[in-house]
Amino acid sequence: MREYPRMLKRGDKFNPLDVAKQTESIVCKGDARKYTAFYVTGVYGGIATGYVVGCCFRCYFCWTDFSRDFPEAYGEYYSAEEACENIVKAARKWKVNKARISGGEPTLCRKHLLRLLELIEQRNEIKLFILETNGLLFGADESYVKDVISFSKVYVRVSLKAGDPEALEARTGASKEFFELPFKAIKSLLDNNAKFHVAAMTDPRIMPPDERKRLLERLAEIDVFLAANLEEETCDPYEGTLVRMQFYGLDPLAFFGRRK
Ligand code: SF4
Repeated sequence: MREYPRMLKRGDKFNPLDVAKQTESIVCKGDARKYTAFYVTGVYGGIATGYVVGCCFRCYFCWTDFSRDFPEAYGEYYSAEEACENIVKAARKWKVNKARISGGEPTLCRKHLLRLLELIEQRNEIKLFILETNGLLFGADESYVKDVISFSKVYVRVSLKAGDPEALEARTGASKEFFELPFKAIKSLLDNNAKFHVAAMTDPRIMPPDERKRLLERLAEIDVFLAANLEEETCDPYEGTLVRMQFYGLDPLAFFGRRK
């Protein structure tokens, strides 16, 4: 097996679909998936969150904890039933009715996600499940999009990382040949009438204005409304972000000291 990619260094690149498979061999076991915690956070006005382990990208600005880079060393396996119970328990405790899984890429471990969504569908305590994704696996397989959006509570948020193939490779490690897959995911969501919107890491300290323009143009080719309603993300100084930036060769103090 190829060496497992950890924190991104300049010039690193890999096949993200292979990394997805490698990661799944570590974080999925049958219909179980590794999680590090379950609690409610303030985003989306309060949302019960299961924190999953593992991703198929290696964004240098990633905010997640180090379970992304060392999935063997973090988390415990939870069946879909156990994960659902923990999410609902947190939602009840803090009186929120939204749920998500985050902290990694939720679409890894397809069997686990689909079973979890099936269980969430049956729970009155949860009215909305927000599925945040980098779009890679949805772009690689439209049947996965169809499976996920068959659940009425699912709302998808696709987060783009780059506006051109070279930037994707430099920023996430995913080879530039895979640039189109997240856009393909967006097209599939649109074609299948999914409830969704698109976000992108357009923080000007990360994405230059001309690249942002290309991203908006590419999105507008798919749908003008999606481009007009793009959610623009900002990079924040989480511990994981600071360490990853330093490893990548950026000076986090200079980066976050800079005005946007
Ligand atoms: S920012 Fe998102 S897509 Fe990028 S490595 Fe982190 S969890 Fe994965």
